[in-house]
Amino acid sequence: MASELNELGDMKKEYDLIIIGTGSVGSAAGYYSAKAGLKVLMVDEFMPPHQHGSHHGETRIMRQAYGEGDEYVPMLLQAQKLWLGLKDYVKHTSGIPIFEQCGVLNAGPSNALFITQAIKSANKYALEVEVKDAKTCKKIWPELQLPENYSAVYEPNAGVLFCENIIESYLELSKQVEAEHAFNCKVFAVETSESGVQVKTSQGDFFASKAIVTAGTWVREIFPNLPITPIRRVFAWHQADGRFSYLNNFPAFTIEDEHGEAYYGFPAVDNALKIGKHIEWEIMHSREDRVPFGSKISDGSALLKFLKRFLPGVGGCLMGKSCSYDMTSDGHFIIDTLDEQKKIMLISGLSGHGFKFASVLGEIGSSFARNEPIPYDLSFFSLKRFTEQQKG
Ligand SMILES: Cc1cc2nc3c(=O)[nH]c(=O)nc-3n(C[C@H](O)[C@H](O)[C@H](O)COP(=O)(O)OP(=O)(O)OC[C@H]3O[C@@H](n4cnc5c(N)ncnc54)[C@H](O)[C@@H]3O)c2cc1C
Repeated sequence: MASELNELGDMKKEYDLIIIGTGSVGSAAGYYSAKAGLKVLMVDEFMPPHQHGSHHGETRIMRQAYGEGDEYVPMLLQAQKLWLGLKDYVKHTSGIPIFEQCGVLNAGPSNALFITQAIKSANKYALEVEVKDAKTCKKIWPELQLPENYSAVYEPNAGVLFCENIIESYLELSKQVEAEHAFNCKVFAVETSESGVQVKTSQGDFFASKAIVTAGTWVREIFPNLPITPIRRVFAWHQADGRFSYLNNFPAFTIEDEHGEAYYGFPAVDNALKIGKHIEWEIMHSREDRVPFGSKISDGSALLKFLKRFLPGVGGCLMGKSCSYDMTSDGHFIIDTLDEQKKIMLISGLSGHGFKFASVLGEIGSSFARNEPIPYDLSFFSLKRFTEQQKG
């Protein structure tokens, strides 16, 4: 596409697609779109990967038997294929870890919705899972203490994604297919017209036929009316010996208790096991509210009761970090267009479980940008559901 001079004499840059926020999903969307032949500009306020969004802390869980609902599974099947493809590619280039299929154990009271939905989605899509009772789990993983009335869904092919390595790899790949990067460049506003979109940034205005908004936690600074709430979360590494390591076949896990409180964790590496509590509505009203780990008393103590009950062999806290989620009120994603002309796609509200989808959401963004049909039913993820809720 040609560039031309605007009325101020500046270069008016024209792209097929501008990515607004180049983190987990944005880096994938930029890469897949440029690979498909589009002229792409990837914009980010910082230098991704970084610690200001939702994608730091080394690892994320990838699982397919989805306790959050079987609507997600078709995307998850493709996401896993893409992760394995990326892993295979990177093996021959930088060699950094991308995806470790160490298995994931989802446990909770046998009648918990999360567990029954995980089993339902596995049955519906013939996923490879093993449903186990607490006794059997204890035999396999004696380090894990599950109450008798708990069940677990074990996915042997699920595992751990290395989040910062993945973003780094997508950025490197995107350069190879000639995507342009504008980093340390904050987006202030996005406007649409007949001819396309105008993206106003700290480095001037950029123009494109379409835009994809993947700005994560602070997306409401650009689109204030979105039904998304920024919440602060913390996670921490605890002392754990070789019994909890990958080498001893200790899996990544999610555990929900009788009160619906959900926790997740990863096999120990170098005697440190990373663990976090999933949703807690610690709402942030501004960026200043995302205070570092340890600023609040609960940061260090919130996990102690859980560890004592379920993983009593795990020791004290070695270090922790704070992070953020972009929450919707129902905990489900928003994947939708924002304007009548369908020039802006929003992929947001990933509500603390979106990283595993970043690859496939990137592909979905690329299909949108190329006016290609999207091979998933996205009606479940529409923006409209919030206005319908209000009316109801
Ligand atoms: C502690 C923690 C643990 C998690 N564990 C899991 C897990 O195990 N499995 C899982 O699947 N998911 C997990 N998640 C959720 C997952 O990490 C997020 O859903 C996902 O990373 C969100 O991706 P994103 O692209 O929307 O946001 P991000 O990766 O944060 O990217 C957003 C980008 O937009 C940029 N940006 C924002 N505003 C602007 C602006 N105005 N101008 C320019 N750029 C801007 C930011 O700088 C950032 O780079 C976890 C999240 C956290 C915090």
